[in-house]
Formats: sequence, structure tokens, C-alpha cells
Amino acid sequence: SPPNSASGDCPGPAATPRIVLFPSAGMGHLVPFTRLAVALSAGHRCDVSLVTALPTVSSAESRHIAALSAAFPAVRRTDMDLRLAPFDASSEFPGADPFYVRYEALRRSATLLLAPLLAGASALVADIALASVAIPVARELHVPCYVFFTASATMLSLKAYFPAYLDARGAGQHGVGDVDVPGVYCIPSSSVPQALHDPDDIFTRQFVANGRALVAANGLLVNAFEAMEPEPVAALHGGAVVAGLPPVFAVGPLMPVKLGETGEEQGNYRAWLDAQPTRSVVYVSFGSRKALARDQIKELAAGLEACGHRFLWVVKGAVVDRDDAGELNDLIGDDEGFLQRVQGRGLVTKSWVEQDEVLRHPAVGLFVSHCGWNSVTEAASSGVPVLAWPRFADQRVNARVAARAGLGVWVERWSWEGEEAVVTAEEIAEQVAAAMGDEAVAEKAASVREAAARAVADGGTSHRSLAEFVRRCRGGT
Ligand code: UDP
Ligand code: UDP
Repeated sequence: SPPNSASGDCPGPAATPRIVLFPSAGMGHLVPFTRLAVALSAGHRCDVSLVTALPTVSSAESRHIAALSAAFPAVRRTDMDLRLAPFDASSEFPGADPFYVRYEALRRSATLLLAPLLAGASALVADIALASVAIPVARELHVPCYVFFTASATMLSLKAYFPAYLDARGAGQHGVGDVDVPGVYCIPSSSVPQALHDPDDIFTRQFVANGRALVAANGLLVNAFEAMEPEPVAALHGGAVVAGLPPVFAVGPLMPVKLGETGEEQGNYRAWLDAQPTRSVVYVSFGSRKALARDQIKELAAGLEACGHRFLWVVKGAVVDRDDAGELNDLIGDDEGFLQRVQGRGLVTKSWVEQDEVLRHPAVGLFVSHCGWNSVTEAASSGVPVLAWPRFADQRVNARVAARAGLGVWVERWSWEGEEAVVTAEEIAEQVAAAMGDEAVAEKAASVREAAARAVADGGTSHRSLAEFVRRCRGGT
């Protein structure tokens, strides 16, 4: 789409900051970018455009983008046709996660595709996965470049410190041990994202390159708030993690935006939730981009049946939703009539639910979550306690954050991807029942909700951080 001539005609940089947002791929990145876009556009009267790389990896992303355009036309879309810059992922990275492959495609096309979009911009806000390629492009064009970190402040501190950790370890040493992030705390080796133990992994290469690049950004935005992660926020600000980091703006938890129907969902879960008593339902979801192994799905089904509580369970059978064509019955290995037996008490769905709405529903009393960071922030804003069951990537780090903040409990011995052990139905039932009955956990989760609300209210820490970011964009720094 053409550059915005209206703001191009504005008298000077002091008028309306023109901010270009450049997300990477997956709902875990698109969702917080959307929230940031709306906060800047509707809340801080910035002129915002969102770069969208088409075709998207998942259909959830394409539905989300369409719904965003319909609900918030002021957030302009700049569509980028990625087919213009193909690369042969299947030979270079056979079997790699399709979302990481997309990051790589974007990284390789950034110079070509991004430069034309930056003419006249006050600032670029690039996704963390694109940091090391976006920063030089923006610098060349004298456009300030901010990096938006879509995960926790604790993970940001690990990412910023990790290159120094590798360098200090010396040549010839392999594997990643416990990582004691200065000013934060020690991240045990078992919580370090699986991929980082392999230096040649596509994710590790991007992670290290992006981590090294952070010092060259004009600033870092993170969807976190001080009261929930006091140590990393203070350490990032104070220069303890790594010398020379630019200003860090903790602006979370960014508020969900109402987009209207996003299409595919089979809407019966709303009516079902409305019919359930207050805080009686266990909501179970492992996010938008990973499927549990079939034998683990079976144990989870049996565990939910045995826990005695009502439940809403979103099951996924594939990494990318477009590939998830199987029947619900096949997915949960339902040869013994599980779905019939739990009918009325449990709702199991394969389709997208509006998670934020679910978490705000008074019927929901517990969230069994993989602890993708967006899910944690949504649980925090709605005050729903979390039973953390991290599976992959940064999720154990996030689970620790949630547990430390009092948002819920994490059973640390439960396995994640790459570990053989299957968590049994019995254990699942026991932990779910314990968490549902724990009044202290519910009270602490409610106090996290209050802290989150204070952070984003007028004058709160996150509100002031976002305003300061906008002030800098207006001033061209
Ligand atoms: N989400 C949703 N409905 C679903 C699955 C996911 O609304 O059925 C949303 C969820 O609320 C969150 C995002 O998709 O905002 C997923 O991001 P998160 O960081 O929690 O996990 P990821 O999917 O990246 O692992
Ligand atoms: N991440 C990162 N550097 C990268 C790519 C991702 O720090 O180069 C972070 C990302 O923000 C998230 C975690 O690493 O905190 C896992 O990445 P992924 O893209 O899988 O996030 P998800 O989709 O699970 O939210």
C-alpha cells in the first residue's frame, strides 16, 4: 500500500509519530504486535502501520489480520509478498519448525523488503526474531529501531546475557549448563530452551545473533510489567545483565483487543461456559503452535475425566493449523467413549477459541497452560490461577515467573518435549484437583490481576513506559 501522504504532509516530526511495526510469524508474535498497534494508534494517537508477510504460516494468522483490518482500519497494513524472495528451506533446514523457517525467510528478505517501507517513518519496531537484520537496515536509513520482545522480561535478560555466557565458556566446551543471569537469578540447564543446547539449531543461530544485536537498538519494548518480574526489569534497566543495553520499556500486559468473529470457530463454547457455575471450569490449552504426543493426549484425557471437575479443553493435533485435519475422536484415541462419558461436564474442541474471553469468563477457575508468554499475561490480567505445564522453548522460564509471582503452581518434574516420560492421568488428576481447591493460590492470582491493572492504568509503570516510548518517537530518537 502507498505511504501515508496525510502524515507525510504534516508540519514536522513533533506532530504524529509514524511507527512501522514488523512482527515475525505465529500467533504468539502477531497477537502482542496487534495489541501494541492498537495501544499506539487508539491510545497514543500514533500513525501505525503493520507489516504483514503473506501468505501467513497458519490460517489463524490470516484470519486475525483480516479481523484486525476490519475492526481497526486506522492501523494500516503493509502487505509484503514473501514469494518475491524465496529460499529453499527444505534443503537447508530439513524438518525445521515451519515458524522458525519463516523467521529465517523474513531475516533474509529484510533488507530488500523492509527498506522501502521505512521512508518517512519516525521509528521501526521490529520483532525480536528479526532484530539483528532489521537494526542495520533502519540505521542505514536513519530511522530509530526499537525491538519488541514478545516474551517475559526474564527471558529477555537470558537472551541478552546468553552470548556473553557462550563467550565466557570458551572454545571446545559444549552444551549449556545452568545460566546465572547477572542481577536476575540462575536459570537451570533443564529450563533453558531445548534448541539452545544445540549450537547449530536454526533457532539457536537466530537467538544468539539477535541477542548480540540488542545493544545496537534504540530501545527495547517488552510485554511485561515491573511488579510481576521485579528482578529482571531492574537488572535490565540498571545495566547488570549486559553493559550498553539501550533503554528498556516494560509496557505490559498489553491489553487484548476485541476483533469480532475471527471466522473458523465453532462458537458453542460460549453458550456452554455461560451455563457453568462460577469458577467451576478448568480451561486447558497448550497454545497455538504445538501438539502433544498422542500418548500424552490420552493420559490428559483420562486425567481430566478423573479430576472430577468441569473442563474446556482445546486439543491440537499439528504444529500448523492448516495441517490439522483429523477427527477429534482420532486425535484423543477415543476408542472407549471418553467424549460420551464426559458429555455435559467437559467440552473438547479442536477449533480456535477466543482465549482472552475464556479467561475473563466467571466460570473459569483454573488454566492448565503451556505458559506461552501471551497466555501467562492473559492469565495475569484476568486473575485466573495457572497450573503450569511448559512444553518447549521459553515456557519453563515463564512457568517459573508465573509461580514466583504467585499466579499459580508449576510441577517442575513434569516432562517437556525431548524428554521421554509421559505424565500420567493419575498425576494430572491429582494436581488439577489440588489447584482447583487451593484458595490461597486463587487469592494470590487475584492480587496479580490487581497489580497488572495498576501497571497499565494512567500513571502506572507500564503506562508511563509506553508514553515515554511515544515521546521519544515524536522527538526522533
Ligand atoms: N490463542 C487463542 N485461542 C486458541 C489458542 C491460542 O486465542 O485457541 C491465543 C492466546 O490467547 C495467545 C496466543 O494465541 O494470545 C498464543 O500465544 P502464546 O504465547 O500463549 O503461545 P504460543 O501459541 O505462541 O505457543
Ligand atoms: N525468541 C527469541 N529470539 C529469537 C526467536 C524467538 O528470543 O530469535 C524468543 C521468543 O520471543 C520466545 C521464545 O524465544 O520467547 C520462543 O520463541 P518462539 O518464536 O517459539 O515463541 P512462541 O511462538 O513460542 O511464542
